[in-house]
Amino acid sequence: MLVTLSGAVANPGVIEVPTGVLLTDLLARSGGTKPRAILVGGYHGSWIPASALEGLRLSRESLKTVGASPGAGIIHALPPDVCGLTRTAQIADYLAGESARQCGPCRNGLPTLAELLDELAHGRVDDALVKEIRRIAGLVDGRGSCRHPDGTARMIRSALVTFASDIDAHRRRGCESA
Ligand code: SF4
Repeated sequence: MLVTLSGAVANPGVIEVPTGVLLTDLLARSGGTKPRAILVGGYHGSWIPASALEGLRLSRESLKTVGASPGAGIIHALPPDVCGLTRTAQIADYLAGESARQCGPCRNGLPTLAELLDELAHGRVDDALVKEIRRIAGLVDGRGSCRHPDGTARMIRSALVTFASDIDAHRRRGCESA
C-alpha cells in the first residue's frame, strides 16, 4: 500500500510498503527521531501514543485494537519537541475552516471545538474545559451531511486519550514536549 509520511521522519513523502508492516519498522525505515505519538489515517484519523506502537501493524485488524484505522494511509509523526495538544488544536482549526458551513456541526460545532482546543493548548486547563470538549465532540457526531464532523470529532477524542498526561501537565502550567 502507499503511505504518506510527514512530521518526525527524515524522508517525508509517499512510500510503498507491504500492508501489515510493523509501524515501528515503518518509522525506523523512514529515519528521523522517535515520535511522541503518531496520527494514523490523516486528519480524520486517530492519535496513537508511541508507547502503544510496539507490535502494532499497518492493517485494519491490528489498528482496530487501538481504535484506529489506516484510512488513506496517511501518517503524521509528532516530533518530541512539539506539544500534542498544540498540534491537535492546529489541526482542528484547519478542519474547522475546511467546510462550506452548510450544516450545523460545521457552522457551530467545529469552530467551537477549535476554540476550546486552543484554550486547552495555550490557556486555562480544568476538568470543565475537557468535559465541554467531549460534549461538543459528541454533539457533532452524525449530524452533518457528510462525515467531516465525525472524523474531526474522532481525531479530537483520540487526542484527549493519547495526550492525557499532557493535559495534566498543562493543568500545572507545564508541558511534556521536550
Ligand atoms: S457536514 Fe459536510 S457537507 Fe455539511 S457543511 Fe460540513 S463538510 Fe459540508
